[in-house]
Amino acid sequence: AVDANVIELDSVKAQQQILVLLYDLTDMRRIEQMQLDFVGNVSHELKTPITAISGFAETLLSGAQDDPETREQFLKIIYDESQHLNQLIQDILALSRTDRNQHGQTQTVHVQAMVNNELGLLQQLIQQRELTVSVKVPEQLTVQIEAAKLEQIIKNLIYNAVFYNRDHGKVTIEAEIKAQQFYFRVQDTGIGIAADEQPRVFERFYRVDKARARNSGGTGLGLAIVQENIKFLGGQIRLQSQLGVGSTFSVELPLD
Ligand code: ADP
Repeated sequence: AVDANVIELDSVKAQQQILVLLYDLTDMRRIEQMQLDFVGNVSHELKTPITAISGFAETLLSGAQDDPETREQFLKIIYDESQHLNQLIQDILALSRTDRNQHGQTQTVHVQAMVNNELGLLQQLIQQRELTVSVKVPEQLTVQIEAAKLEQIIKNLIYNAVFYNRDHGKVTIEAEIKAQQFYFRVQDTGIGIAADEQPRVFERFYRVDKARARNSGGTGLGLAIVQENIKFLGGQIRLQSQLGVGSTFSVELPLD
C-alpha cells in the first residue's frame, strides 16, 4: 500500500510537470507568434512611407520637377513621409529597449519642465486647434526615475490628448506624489474610445480609425510604448473614456 501511494504521488508530480511544460510551450508559441506578427507589421508599416518616397522622387526625376507647384507638393510629401519613417524607427527602438529589459539611468526629473517641454513641441497643433491646456503640476515636483522612460510615457499621452481632441477642446495634465507613488493624469475632451476598443488601443499597431491615424503621423505604437514603459517601472495605467466626450489616462508609478 505504501509503494502504491509513492507511485501515485510520483505520477501526480509527473503529470503536473508535464502540464507545466505544456503550459510553457504554449506560452513560448504565443510569444513566438507575437514576435512574428510584430516583424510582419513593422515591415508593412515601413513599406508604406518608403514606397511613397521612392515613387514621388521617381516622378520628380522623370520630368515633374519642371513644374514648380508639383515639385513643391511632391517634395512636401517626401519630407512628411521621411519624418514618419523616422518616428516609426524611433518608436520601434523605444519598444525594443523595454523588450530587452534595458535599464537606463535614474535621474531627478522636474516634472513640470518635462510636461512644458512636450507641450512646446506641440505648440503649433495646440494653436491651430485652439485648445485650452491646463497644467496642474506643482512647480517643485521632482521624481527620481529613469527620465527617458518617463518622457516616453508623458510625451505619448500628451500627444494623443492633443491629436485626438476636437477644436476648442481642453487638455488637463495633472501630477502629484502621494504615499511614495507618483500619479500622472492626462485628460482630454476629444473623440473618446468605445468600451470594446479600450483594451485594444494598447496593442502594438492597433488604431481605432485607420484613415485618421495615418494622417496623424502617429505610428500606432504610442500607447504600446506607454504601457511597456509603465510595466517596466512597476506601475500601472488606467483608461476611462466615453465616445464623443473624452478620455482620461491615469498612470501610477511606485517611487523607491
Ligand atoms: P497612434 O500613433 O495611432 O496615435 P497610439 O498607440 O498612441 O497610436 O494609439 C492607438 C489608438 O488609440 C489611436 O490610433 C487612436 O485611435 C486611439 N487613441 C489613443 N489615444 C486617444 C485619445 N486620447 N483619444 C481618443 N483616441 C485615442
